[in-house]
Amino acid sequence: MQKPIMIIGAMDPEIDFLVDKLENLKKSKLNIYNVYEGNIEGKEVVIAQSEVGIINSSVLTTLAIEKYKPSIIINEGTAGGIGRNIHKGDIVIGSECFNIMSAKTPYKEEGEGSNSLEWEYITFVNGGKDEKKTVKADEKLVQFIKSVKEKYNNGNVCTGVIGSGDIWNCEKDKIMYLSEKHGVLCEEMEGIAVYTVAKNYNVPVVGVRVISDNEILGEEYDRNLGLECQKFVYEIVKRICII
Ligand code: SAH
Repeated sequence: MQKPIMIIGAMDPEIDFLVDKLENLKKSKLNIYNVYEGNIEGKEVVIAQSEVGIINSSVLTTLAIEKYKPSIIINEGTAGGIGRNIHKGDIVIGSECFNIMSAKTPYKEEGEGSNSLEWEYITFVNGGKDEKKTVKADEKLVQFIKSVKEKYNNGNVCTGVIGSGDIWNCEKDKIMYLSEKHGVLCEEMEGIAVYTVAKNYNVPVVGVRVISDNEILGEEYDRNLGLECQKFVYEIVKRICII
């Protein structure tokens, strides 16, 4: 049996187009999460809907890998643009991802308040060194997606860091801090879970995100841009040959 390509998306406008493209569609559930199995041009494909957030996507990714033993995972959907150079409609290929909610604060006295620009991003490790850790995407997947980027015609396609965590940043200083100090191109709420769980199981993983909003540039959130990301992922799936 061919191992399936797994696509993980959170919200309906991030999966509906791809589900429509599945031949021999079979719908099922893993716990509360919707799963759609089928074929795209003869390839086995599983689309698993994580719902929003890190906890949901951790659970769904674990259950889905255990059941379907995928060959690769593409985590796709919308994300907020971080910085001045990335616009609504652009795509980010996440060559790496880190948790923008895993942090240690400096010491402050009562009455001294809180300032998240002073937080240090740290991944805490049982008995090990606590330091910033990014999780890398599979390099071959990144290179392959870059090689078909001309199939995307709704904006630029760039490659770089995805910041991920259960937060929607609207503070402009914080957004510029993430951009300038940590090289973040976009922020979303599922990637770090999908990357981490996939790594635990040695499944090659990559995140592909369309920018749905950019606070710095005043570009308002439009969740329906998820469709553009799905169309690009469809072109990727049609062309990819699994090693
Ligand atoms: N009720 C809203 C929920 C949006 S949560 C809705 O149905 O549209 C935002 C989702 O889009 C998450 O899955 C996250 O991964 C992504 N996202 C888009 N823009 C984001 C931003 N600026 N910050 C964080 N996540 C964002």
